Amino acid sequence: MESIAASLHGTVRSLRLSWQAKLAGLSAFDIAPRTRFAHSWRAPLYPNVQLHIAGQWRDAEGGRTLPVLNPATEEQIGTVAHASHNDLDAALAAAAKGFSIWSQTSAFERAKIMRRAAALLRERVKSISQLMTLEQGKPLFESKTETLLAADIIEWFAEEARRTYGSVVPARAPGIYQLVLKEPVGPVAAFTPWNFPINQAVRKLSAALAAGCSIIVKAAEETPASPAELIRAFADAGVPEGVIGLVYGVPSDISEYLIPHPTIRKLTFTGSTPVGKQLAALAGAHMKRITMELGGHAPAVIFDDADVDVAVTQLIKAKFRNAGQVCVSPTRFLVQTKVYDTFVGKFAGAAKALKVGDGSSEGVDMGPLANERRINAMEALLADALQKGATIETGGKRIGNKGFFFEPTVVTGVNRDMRMMNEEPFGPLAMMLPFETFEEAVEEANRLPYGLASYAYTRSAKTANRVAACIEAGMMTINHLGLALPEVPFGGMKDSGYGSEGGAEAIESYLNTKFVSQAGL
Ligand code: NAD
Repeated sequence: MESIAASLHGTVRSLRLSWQAKLAGLSAFDIAPRTRFAHSWRAPLYPNVQLHIAGQWRDAEGGRTLPVLNPATEEQIGTVAHASHNDLDAALAAAAKGFSIWSQTSAFERAKIMRRAAALLRERVKSISQLMTLEQGKPLFESKTETLLAADIIEWFAEEARRTYGSVVPARAPGIYQLVLKEPVGPVAAFTPWNFPINQAVRKLSAALAAGCSIIVKAAEETPASPAELIRAFADAGVPEGVIGLVYGVPSDISEYLIPHPTIRKLTFTGSTPVGKQLAALAGAHMKRITMELGGHAPAVIFDDADVDVAVTQLIKAKFRNAGQVCVSPTRFLVQTKVYDTFVGKFAGAAKALKVGDGSSEGVDMGPLANERRINAMEALLADALQKGATIETGGKRIGNKGFFFEPTVVTGVNRDMRMMNEEPFGPLAMMLPFETFEEAVEEANRLPYGLASYAYTRSAKTANRVAACIEAGMMTINHLGLALPEVPFGGMKDSGYGSEGGAEAIESYLNTKFVSQAGL
């Protein structure tokens, strides 16, 4: 194992610069400045993050705040405003007013303002990515890629804003016009998590704004500064007052207040399946439209005829990106028996070679986990698996006692009774399972109630087609990493939620369809 680790170390290091860039559709050249600003990097002053209500940045009523920690040091780096119900009422009133303005702003004008916001985000990428790494922990090059990808997402939705076409249905009689019109659904409540502080917010914001909706974002209290900078870019670009609100506080308190409120017409949430089910039930009780982007437990199927080196190189990136705190992260590695030993050996070697450290330091592949809950979750899942007979091939432990660092971990000898085989680990844990037949792999892939992302490696077009047809997942990527670009659908099925946060489908869920039948006079 040691020699495989040594030989893979160089490959992992040389690929570090380009893999995130490829994922984001950028060239390796675009990402190169990472090295330069990592060298000259100085911790920026972390702000005390405020609410954004009716076009104003303001403290919460009574000045209430919550602390914000750096997960690499566990030190408090700032605070975030904690909204009261009066603050939420102000945000709701502003959203109603904002909707009346924005829904009447032409799609052409909306698109122009959105493109300006994308340009501002690109201009500010350096400072925004520094804030993101400080509050979330991911390496600077990942924060930078996330920020630049957000600009791409805004631009793509800005273009789509001009294509929210209706249609004309042929009538049964002369002189009748049957028009199908698309209208914005109304003010939206959006709840976004801490793993991709900008990316999860920008998908919702861009689709809502493109459609002509106003939106109140409740971003994650643990990572508040980078989404605030996203919203600042929109505000500075000229989005009118009230169209975008930003609040923080106690998540359940805010969702229970906003979702039933008559001003809100749609809920969009990214987070865990249990919370998603609660919020969807609340939205259902009040007949609100919803988009739910929830948890996953992605299978990665490696067939005997796969190019194992390609599979290892790509899946290492996909697994340990953002320390595995990614809803589409590959988790169950189903490997056909002939290539099982080779794949596991190379994968564990490459995992061991990854450099774990403070995301703001040079050359780090994987930062700390975002909070202590993830460390506790990793330890509990591993203790359960070890007690039930699993073997740790590499990793398995917390690193040090300051900062939420955890080793990239590969586990074999797993079975279906283990918690990690059933619960989303949301951390740097990879489980290896051998399989004999195609049917066996599909049965295991589809066993869980999740159905978000899936991965497959094979040189056979027939196997690729069959596996894409048989696996129950909202997204599948075969022989490369091809998920999450702005122009393609992004979403799940089964307990992973419904609705899409990418592609043309994403705007559709922010639009109502109105039918008008009109006779000539
Ligand atoms: P959690 O389930 O308590 O919270 C997940 C997110 O939902 C957080 O951003 C939180 O603020 C928000 N949230 C929680 N309760 C809420 C409520 N009642 N109303 C509105 N928002 C609410 O767990 P956590 O410890 O923060 O994260 C762990 C789990 O969350 C992971 O295991 C993972 O399954 C899931 N998660 C998923 C994603 C994703 O991209 N799908 C992102 C982050 C977390």
